[in-house]
Amino acid sequence: MIIAIDGPGASGKSTVARGVARALGFLYVDTGGMYRTLAWHCLQLGVEMGNSKAVAAACRRWKTRLHRLEGDPAEVVLLVEGFYPGDALRTREVAKAASDVAVVASVRLWMKRRQRECAEFGNLVVEGRDIGTNVFPETDWKFWLDADASERNRRRSAQGVEDNLAYRDRQDSQRRATPLMAGLGAVRIDTTAMPAAKVVERIVGSVRVGT
Ligand code: C5P
Repeated sequence: MIIAIDGPGASGKSTVARGVARALGFLYVDTGGMYRTLAWHCLQLGVEMGNSKAVAAACRRWKTRLHRLEGDPAEVVLLVEGFYPGDALRTREVAKAASDVAVVASVRLWMKRRQRECAEFGNLVVEGRDIGTNVFPETDWKFWLDADASERNRRRSAQGVEDNLAYRDRQDSQRRATPLMAGLGAVRIDTTAMPAAKVVERIVGSVRVGT
């Protein structure tokens, strides 16, 4: 069973997806984290982010594999030569680079294959930008989270994270390959004034009763 949770940055996806995974005993997959891991790897190699051929080549040659990371909830992540970069993925530089590698069509195709392979690990809660539209379009469980831009910026500042949300929103929505948008039939939840615990409750409730 796959639960897809999509939406823009700071819409509450990570907190909510982790909460749903914990409540249901599912594995959590952070697909943004996967793009960030490739971006981090490219930055380490000194690949120029605007050069889509160089980014595509780095992705093709990448020695990586999926790995189950124990935790609450357990997570499926990509390793860079056996190593998980963890907190190093959360910088402003990596966030911007992730949005840059994510415009490359061959990278998106590669990511889609890896992300679909995650289902071999068990039932999943998958958060991202194109899960309901592109990665698992067949799932019955699609949720789209959003919040006002000012609230999303406030959340990032409160987390002490510098994030160029406007740049990423624009690039993520305008790219040609699988842009950021709600999947057909996705349940839309505005999280601007709703605590994460309530959003989790709502999603878990609707999945449990099967509506
Ligand atoms: O969600 P997060 O901020 O970690 O995502 C980092 C970047 O990865 C996004 O700005 C977006 O460009 C890209 N991404 C994507 N498709 C996904 C998940 C993330 O293009 N499913």
